[in-house]
Amino acid sequence: MPDTLIAPPSTAFLEKLRAIVGERGMVEDPQARAFHETDWRGYVLGRAAAVVKPGTTEEVAAVVALCNEHGVKIVPQGGVTGLVAAGIPVRDGDEIVLSLARMNRILDVNPTAYTMTVEAGVVLQTIQETAAAHDRYFPISLGAQGSCMIGGNLSTNAGGATVLHYGNTRSMVLGLEVVLPDGRIWDGLRALKKDNTGYDLKDLFVGAEGTLGVITKAVLKIFPRPKDVATAWLAVPEPQAALEVLAGARIASDDSVTSCELIHELGLDGILRHIPGTQRPLQERHTWQVLMEWSSTRPIPPDGESGMRPRLEAYLAECMEKGLVLDAVIAQNEAQARAFWHLRESHAEAGRHDDPACSFDISVAVEKIPGFIEACNAATVAAVPGLRPRPMGHMGDGNLHYTFSAPQGVKARAEFAPSVKVLDRIVHDMVAEFDGSISAEHGIGSAKLLELERYRSATELDVMRAIKKALDPKGIMNPGKVIRVDPDETVRDATGMR
Ligand SMILES: Cc1cc2nc3c(=O)[nH]c(=O)nc-3n(C[C@H](O)[C@H](O)[C@H](O)COP(=O)(O)OP(=O)(O)OC[C@H]3O[C@@H](n4cnc5c(N)ncnc54)[C@H](O)[C@@H]3O)c2cc1C
Repeated sequence: MPDTLIAPPSTAFLEKLRAIVGERGMVEDPQARAFHETDWRGYVLGRAAAVVKPGTTEEVAAVVALCNEHGVKIVPQGGVTGLVAAGIPVRDGDEIVLSLARMNRILDVNPTAYTMTVEAGVVLQTIQETAAAHDRYFPISLGAQGSCMIGGNLSTNAGGATVLHYGNTRSMVLGLEVVLPDGRIWDGLRALKKDNTGYDLKDLFVGAEGTLGVITKAVLKIFPRPKDVATAWLAVPEPQAALEVLAGARIASDDSVTSCELIHELGLDGILRHIPGTQRPLQERHTWQVLMEWSSTRPIPPDGESGMRPRLEAYLAECMEKGLVLDAVIAQNEAQARAFWHLRESHAEAGRHDDPACSFDISVAVEKIPGFIEACNAATVAAVPGLRPRPMGHMGDGNLHYTFSAPQGVKARAEFAPSVKVLDRIVHDMVAEFDGSISAEHGIGSAKLLELERYRSATELDVMRAIKKALDPKGIMNPGKVIRVDPDETVRDATGMR
């Protein structure tokens, strides 16, 4: 979309904005504004013409209609925990940030129908807690759950630790309400499991990273609450063994493996150094470790034999005999299980202290994970001597957060940046060779926009551009993110954001 179509907001425009959202809906304090202009890792700093927090769908619609009329660009925002610079204003002060944070009401919980209706600004953890209060369960679970919002989760189609069993955020949605780029409200807030009336519009907005409209409400699926949960931390000799342990566990648990996370010793070491109160679960150091959880919605049986924990214990003993598991510990109570999860969920936070590093969010078919790790470690270390790879992530989904710490002695991000460019090509080319994805769950944002153009086919890019043009002909919704309609549009360098 030519930049000339897009205008920086005038003072008169800003006053109209204020009239729509009121004083409460304008964020003017510089410190409060800075939160909305900086990405979670602190790598990308943007500047917005205004930051607004509408309180209702009608206010969102009025703001979007005004922007459409004046050609002003909009960056929708949730909890600002995204990792690909998708929710940060990247232009120089000519975009407005539209935060959903004030639209944070739970509108309905229906335990009989297993649904919950929420506004887009509800924090993920609040949804989990609300479901639990009704003896139900909302499975999407990720390290940022205390801050990210369901509108952001939907817009990034967030994954997390339970996709293996329950699916990603897309699988949790029955209906959506969306404000379209021209300000019209699309009411698709239906709670239907079956609805084959033409194109599935809601699926367009899930994972669109705010480029097609603003999600304002959602009807979500909720599930029976797991009551018998067994959590284990294990050491395995290599990733292939982890894969075999997982494959067998699905049968041994009656297909009740809800999470299977691979953790590299270098990553665990960073967590133990930087996150207060954390402890190594196993006595010895092991290069490859796995956090595995089995869950059942049945209460723990009184016989002490048929519950998840004894079954997991018996299964792991079998795996140890076969040499697939070197050591293992099963959480004896909820606090211990929480401590294991705290380690896993702190990986990204620990990484902030371990700069310079870079991280890739890739996926390949689950059975290709061991081969991918072997090939990728070899190629990257050969290209950047001294590089320290520490692949980890949602192994059960074939999704690795392939992280590289800079060689010892490299202290500044700028010094590591040329190597990051080399790694970009090696890792993503290898992903393509393995028929994988360059973004498993974090999205494209601005960080991977050029990479998307490189690896998606011309046909796919054409279809995406056609959808974008049809819904947002003026190009006001989160421009410069996901897909460029005009290939000449300048892309801001977001090195390090992946
Ligand atoms: C510690 C940590 C751990 C993480 N772990 C995971 C993980 O395991 N799995 C995973 O998938 N991600 C993970 N993430 C990434 C991030 O948390 C998710 O992408 C999350 O879904 C973003 O939600 P948010 O509310 O913060 O969205 P934001 O960062 O505010 O926005 C993300 C994108 O969504 C758009 N958007 C936000 N709200 C709306 C709306 N209402 N309508 C339209 N567009 C909107 C924005 O424009 C932007 O493009 C992690 C992040 C951190 C910091």
